[in-house]
This record gives sequence, structure tokens and C-alpha cells, in this order.
Amino acid sequence: MKILVMNCGSSSLKYQLIDMENESVIAKGICEMIGQDTSSIKHDPITKDVYKAEVPMPDHKKAVSLVIEALLDENHGVLKSMDEIGAVGHRVLHGGKFYSASIVINEDVKRVIRECFDLGPLHNPANLIGIEACESLMPNTPQVAVFDTAFHQTMPKKAYMYAIPYEYYEKYAIRKYGFHGTSHSYVSKRVIDFGKLDPDNSKVIVCHLGNGASLSAVQNGKCVDTSMGLTPLEGLIMGTRSGDVDAAVVQYLANKENLTVDQVLNILNKKSGVEALSGVSSDFRKLDAAAKEGNERAKDAVDSFVYRVVKYIGSYVAAMNGVDAICFTAGIGENDGKVRKMICDSLTYLGVEIDEAKNQVRGEEILISTPASKVKVMIIPTNEELAIARETLALI
Ligand code: ADP
Repeated sequence: MKILVMNCGSSSLKYQLIDMENESVIAKGICEMIGQDTSSIKHDPITKDVYKAEVPMPDHKKAVSLVIEALLDENHGVLKSMDEIGAVGHRVLHGGKFYSASIVINEDVKRVIRECFDLGPLHNPANLIGIEACESLMPNTPQVAVFDTAFHQTMPKKAYMYAIPYEYYEKYAIRKYGFHGTSHSYVSKRVIDFGKLDPDNSKVIVCHLGNGASLSAVQNGKCVDTSMGLTPLEGLIMGTRSGDVDAAVVQYLANKENLTVDQVLNILNKKSGVEALSGVSSDFRKLDAAAKEGNERAKDAVDSFVYRVVKYIGSYVAAMNGVDAICFTAGIGENDGKVRKMICDSLTYLGVEIDEAKNQVRGEEILISTPASKVKVMIIPTNEELAIARETLALI
């Protein structure tokens, strides 16, 4: 069976068509700058030439129809008919407290996605448009919602409650939700398999370090804590997100700069993080190059990033009263051996010891700790699209 995976962001749509017989990607692509003047589609049919075009896309509905056209195209297409697609798996950002697992989409599911618009204002509306566009273009094909928040729904109350007046939890469901759930779920399961841990007696910390970054503490296969919160802003220092700051910064900055709360939040989400600290870039490759040329702020930005990760790891070791395995994934986690080493060098108190040669490996599943290390440290490349496709297949 072929499964189409759709990931609608605020102004983008990423997709993959996966053949579940052998879990291979048949085609993948991205529509960017949706709703803006210069929208474009890049479609990669894997065994044929890549197709790129600038096409006006006023909304996600148009983007979905262009993806379908690309998949069916005589030259760069990979399908003869849309009937070949057995199901569509949609990544949905926020399922609030309602969903702890993926679900086949019906009117009720769409109502909940709509109810969660306030919690995911940039993504949930785009996700719903993507779902409705697919429904109208493929009315007989099952659609599945895979929520970014679902895996974290097993967190205990002590981990997800914010210590603010209780009525706001009751009235508005303000609490920690966590994100990157598909990745944390997929990777933590691989850690147990690959690291030969006991699924019912295991303590795992997953470090998903990409442009967006989050950690999760996974005990016996269930998430018990995670670093992102009500929104993806909380936790680690990220590419352009500040991560944890004193909430009073919002008021202080609003008053000093005469900004609205929304404007300050925009700064904390899009103009902060290592990009702001360094003044160079949100990309760790550029930070490394700048640091090598003597740029102190670039070096300091990476130091701050690493320090925050190390502090969170320490807090999750405390939360689980131990740790068996620590795993790195996503763009930085999979590729940046220097950052991995900096983090692990601060974990010698746990008996962590890594093999320098193995730590040079990029993008493959590998144990990078030495046999003497008290904690297994590994790299597990994340594959959110495949995880979504597997969940979708399991449900239909
Ligand atoms: P997201 O999905 O949140 O956009 P990714 O997981 O794709 O993020 O990670 C992207 C980031 O990974 C880049 O911004 C960059 O900082 C980092 N990255 C990618 N490749 C490398 C590399 N070879 N070395 C160091 N960092 C890398």
C-alpha cells in the first residue's frame, strides 16, 4: 500500500509518498511561501528528475492540488491514479488534551482540531485546510491525524501542570503539552530495540536537536516529561526560539520597546535563540565556521545551547531517578559530533564515556558510548514521515 504523508506548516506543505511494502520513499517534496507572492513547489520523484516551479498558491488547498498534479504528472509523476493512494497521514500540531494517539479523521476529530486553533494558531488551521483539501480531492481515501502532542499525553500531572491559578487550567486547558511527539515516540522505541533495553524497565532521554529542539524523558516506553510546553517556545535554546525565559521579560520588553504581547512573542519565537545570541545564524554549521574564525558570540551561543541541554538532561535523570540510555536525533543531534561531544563531556558524573571515532559518524543508527560507559549513548536518525506512515497504516 502507498501512503501519502502531509505536513502542513504555517506557510509550507511537506509531503512524502511512501510504499509501505518496503517502506521506501516513492516521491517527496515541498511547497513553500504559501500565501505569499513567490510560492514554489519542489517535487522529487526519486528515480526521475526533480521538478521545480514557481506557482501562485494563495492557500494550502491550492498547494494540495498542486502536489496531486505533480504526483500524477506524465513526466515527473509517480502515480497513474489517486486510487493508488491507500491513505493519507496528516501531521497535526496540537491535539490538546483530547488525543493520546493517532486517529482516523471524522467530523468529530476535525472539530477538536478546530477547538485547538488557539493552542496552535499557526499550524492547526493549516493542518485542517490540508485535511479538508485532501478530503475533497480524494473523498474515498481514509485520512489519519497524527498529533505532535499525543506521545506526551502520558506525562503525570506533576510534570504538566504550571503553577498558575487553577481556573486557567480548567477554563483554557493551559498546561504543558510537548511537541515533536512523533519523533520522540519513534526514536525512543528504536533506542529500546537497538540498545537492547528492557521495554518494561528502561529509562531513556531523547535529545531531538534540530532547528526546533526538545528533550523527553521516557520511562518504560512512556513519556514522563518533555521540555516544550503549552507551545513549542518552552525549554531548550533553539535556532530562533529563546526557550525558557523569565515570563517577566515579556512585560519588561513590551514596556521598554512599546510592543504588544504578540510582538514580544514573535521576537521570542522567531528572532531569538542561537541566531540572536550569535548575531550570525540559526544554523550550527555556520556557527561552527564563525567560531573557528574567532567569532566569540558564535562560540558563546553554542556554549549556551549545550549548557541548556546538559541542564535538562540532569533534570530528567533526577525525574526518573536514573538513566539507561541517552539518544541524539534531528539535524544537530544526528550530524554535529562536536555538539554531541560537548554535551557528553558534561555528563561524566553519570559515567558517560563516548568513543571519539564512533562519534564522528553521521546520520546512521550507532552506539557511540564505549563498552565501559555506564549509560548507553546513541545516535538514532529520526524519520517523522515514516513514523506517520506506519501509524496511518496501523489504523486503517
Ligand atoms: P527542523 O526539522 O526543526 O527544521 P532539522 O532537524 O532539519 O530541523 O535540523 C536543522 C538544523 O540542523 C540546521 O539548522 C543546522 O543547525 C543543523 N544541521 C544540519 N546539518 C548539520 C551538520 N552537518 N552539522 C551541524 N549541524 C547541522
